[in-house]
Amino acid sequence: MGFNLNFRDKSWAPVFSLDLKAKNSGRRNHNVICMSVQQASVPKVAVSPLELENATEPPLNLHKPKEPYTATIVSVERLVGPKAPGETCHIVIDHGGNVPYWEGQSYGVIPPGENPKKPGAPHNVRLYSIASTRYGDFFDGKTASLCVRRAVYYDPETGKEDPSKNGVCSNFLCNSKPGDKIQVTGPSGKIMLLPEDDPNATHIMIATGTGVAPYRGYLRRMFMESVPKFKFGGLAWLFLGVANSDSLLYDDEFTKYLNDYPNNFRYDRALSREQQNKNGGKMYVQDKIEEYSDEIFKLLDNGAHIYFCGLKGMMPGIQGTLKRVAEERGESWEEKLSLLKKNKQWHVEVY
Ligand code: FAD
Repeated sequence: MGFNLNFRDKSWAPVFSLDLKAKNSGRRNHNVICMSVQQASVPKVAVSPLELENATEPPLNLHKPKEPYTATIVSVERLVGPKAPGETCHIVIDHGGNVPYWEGQSYGVIPPGENPKKPGAPHNVRLYSIASTRYGDFFDGKTASLCVRRAVYYDPETGKEDPSKNGVCSNFLCNSKPGDKIQVTGPSGKIMLLPEDDPNATHIMIATGTGVAPYRGYLRRMFMESVPKFKFGGLAWLFLGVANSDSLLYDDEFTKYLNDYPNNFRYDRALSREQQNKNGGKMYVQDKIEEYSDEIFKLLDNGAHIYFCGLKGMMPGIQGTLKRVAEERGESWEEKLSLLKKNKQWHVEVY
C-alpha cells in the first residue's frame, strides 16, 4: 500500500499524508468533510462503508481457531524512540473486510509453527487489542491495526537476552514484512466496547503501554472520523503510563486531539523513569489518578465510564489508590466498586 506512518514525526502527518497518497494513487479516496455540530471547526475524515454502523450487536468470533482467516500484513512500524526499553510496533493488517470488528475488540493471531506443548498441532491463539476503529487506518473498513510489544526474555542470572525464550507471536508480528500472511481469529471481546448510547458521556481511559490500543480506536472514532451515527460531544480523558517519553505511543495523534478539542479531551502521561510522584518515587499511572482523584470521583458519581487496559500488574496499585481515596472521602470503595460494576461503568481488560 506504500503508506508510511511515521508516528514519531511531530508534524502530525498521518491523516493528511494518507489522503495525499490516496489522491495520487487513485486507490483510496478519503474526503475530508465538515465536522459535527458539537465540534464545529476541525475537519474530520469521511469513512466507508457506513453499513459497518448498521449492526445492533458487535461481530463475534466470525473466524474460529480451527478456521482462521488468512490476512495480509500491510505495514509494521516501530512506535517508540531509541531510549525506550523494549520495542513496540504498530502493525496494519489487511482483512479485506472479512473480519469486521468494533472499537475495543481484539483479534486472535495464530503464529506459524508447531505448538511445543502439542507436537503436530498449531500454536495457541494469542489475543491483541485492536488499535484502530472499525474503518481501519485507511478509513475503508478493510484493515485492522495492532499495537504489539515484543516479549523478550532476559536470563535473571546473567541479565542477558535469551532469544530461545522470546515470545513467539509478538516477535513473529514485529518481524513480519508487508505482504506476509497471518492467521487471524475473532473478533472477540465485549468488555471494552465503547458505549455509544450517550454521545455526551465521559470516558476515563487508563492504560499502561500497549493497553492504549483500544483507546486509540475510541479516540479516532470520537475525534478523527466523521461518523454520522456517533457525534461525540462528551469528555474523553486518557491516562497513559509508560517508562519514558521515548516509550509514549501515538503521542502525536493524542496531542493533536488535545489542541483541536481542548473541551472534549484530556491527556495525562505518567513517565515512571522520568517523573517523580509527590513522595519523590516513580510516577506511575495510579499517581496521576490520585492527583486528579477528586475530579475522577465526581465524574464517576455522574455516570462516567472508566476503562483499564494493559499489564495485569497495573490493577493492584490502581485499586489500592482508589480505595485509599474513597476512604479519605468517607466512602466505602467496595460499595462504590460494586455500584460501578452494576451500572456497567467499570471496564477492565488486563493481560
Ligand atoms: P509467548 O511465546 O506466549 O511467551 C510468553 C512469555 O513467556 C514471553 O514473555 C516469553 O519471553 C516467556 N517465555 C518463553 N519461554 C520461556 C521459558 N522457557 N521460561 C520463561 N519464560 C519464557 N499484547 C500486546 O503486545 N498488545 C496488545 O494489544 C495485547 N492485547 C491483549 C489483549 C488481551 C485480551 C490479552 C489476553 C492479551 C493481550 N496481549 C497483548 C498479550 C498477547 O496476547 C501475548 O500474550 C503477548 O504478545 C505474548 O505472546 P508471545 O507469543 O509473544 O509470547
